Amino acid sequence: MSYYVTTPIYYVNGEPHLGHAYTTIAADVLARHMRQRGEDVFFLTGTDEHGEPVTQAAEKLGITPRELGDRHAVRFKQLAATLNATNDFFIRTTDPEHMEKVAQVVRRIHDNGHVYAGTYEGWYCPRCADFKTESELEDGNRCPIHKIELEIEKEDNWFFRLSTFQEPLERLYAERTDFVIPRNRYNEALAFIKSGLRDLSLSRARLKWGVPVPWDHSQVIYVWIDALLNYYTALSYAREDEDLTERYWPAHVHLIGKDILKFHAVIWPAMLMAADIEVPRRVGIHGYLLLGEHKMSKSLGNVIEPFHVAEVYGADALRFYVLREVSFGADGEVSPEGFETRYTTELANEYGNLASRTLAMLSRYRDGVVPDAAPAPRLQGEFEDLADTVCRRLDAIELTAALDEIWQRVKLLNRYVQDEEPWQLSKDEGAAEQLDQVLYSLAEGLRVVSVLLHPFMPGSAERLLAALGQEDLSLDGARLGAVGGGASIAELGQLFPRVEPPERSAA
Ligand SMILES: [Zn+2]
Repeated sequence: MSYYVTTPIYYVNGEPHLGHAYTTIAADVLARHMRQRGEDVFFLTGTDEHGEPVTQAAEKLGITPRELGDRHAVRFKQLAATLNATNDFFIRTTDPEHMEKVAQVVRRIHDNGHVYAGTYEGWYCPRCADFKTESELEDGNRCPIHKIELEIEKEDNWFFRLSTFQEPLERLYAERTDFVIPRNRYNEALAFIKSGLRDLSLSRARLKWGVPVPWDHSQVIYVWIDALLNYYTALSYAREDEDLTERYWPAHVHLIGKDILKFHAVIWPAMLMAADIEVPRRVGIHGYLLLGEHKMSKSLGNVIEPFHVAEVYGADALRFYVLREVSFGADGEVSPEGFETRYTTELANEYGNLASRTLAMLSRYRDGVVPDAAPAPRLQGEFEDLADTVCRRLDAIELTAALDEIWQRVKLLNRYVQDEEPWQLSKDEGAAEQLDQVLYSLAEGLRVVSVLLHPFMPGSAERLLAALGQEDLSLDGARLGAVGGGASIAELGQLFPRVEPPERSAA
């Protein structure tokens, strides 16, 4: 089966931040997990480089929009690499191949009779590059997102008959109740559709930075129409001499933040229907990571800046933290202190120490070879359905719940070693068989959780598996007892070393 997962393309009017990192991490977890299941995966991310906000930001810096795009696209590529993301392609909406394909699809929407000339008037937020409805405005005619005062703008442009897609969209939502998840977002999108859809202006007259409307070069295509199409256009040119559209379209899941729900859950499927293109299977929505008021942490200061955290603590720790701390799909607070607490108590102690203790005991009591035994019955039951449960959770895009399932087993293994006290068993020659079972169960339990943790913390999981003499990452092997004893263990070092606070310079 093919599996195509996307992040939104990130807007290049600013620097990458934690919010961007969050979606990329989540998409990478899904991509890596599906590869473990043997699926044919394509993972796309990239940058959105057209529109008024980019022009404005470039002007402020005294450079061209193209230069600004180049500058920031590099940063977003670096972010993906820093997070250890395994995206198969990085699209930029300034790619000529993308622009050409956008023009083709928009031309098809036009030729299918879904476009007309009209005049638009409304509250316009230049930073959203979008008109706002009365009901969306905040007090003082402000943009609900940017809080800036908006003005009424009027222009002649081309319209997309979004209103005629109200019924087809309602049908789509009725037939596919998991088209948008989680459920509250599905309800929100459906309510928006049912409240009545207004036609959408598809082009901009005043703007030059974009894809020209194919039948009217005095206008450029509205930046959102251009941007949404990236999910479709990328497949046509991501590989030289190969069109991947047949192989991966429709996308399995578009991961997005809740602020762009309307575009992805309403406008995007309507556009695709208008162009006779299959709609994606699913839109998965996450909430916001909120940075509240916090005291300064020793090594991170008062912000969680993804490049900095990855440099100081490693990408795995950041990947783990954002998915562990805030239930995926909901809003939640993150903080440097919260990060450091989880790093120490969960990553360094519960996982890292368990690994080093287990390896040390294997080397001390069994000459560095995992003994052959049956897994402890006490663990067997608890691990029984683990891999299936994780698959089910990730299929439902419940990343935090999936991670928690695995982490409960990490905690269980910690209790197990505490209860069995292998260091006592080692003193009793009559308990050799029991010690074999305990050591085998620990090594095997660590192997299984590490295989399952691999999508979340690829670097650490791989290191630990290598130390256990294992390299198979496939989910078929993620069962307690699937691998027998006999493997020779190797040095691990510290998986999550203590981080010293940076030295303070004397002010
Ligand atoms: Zn705005």
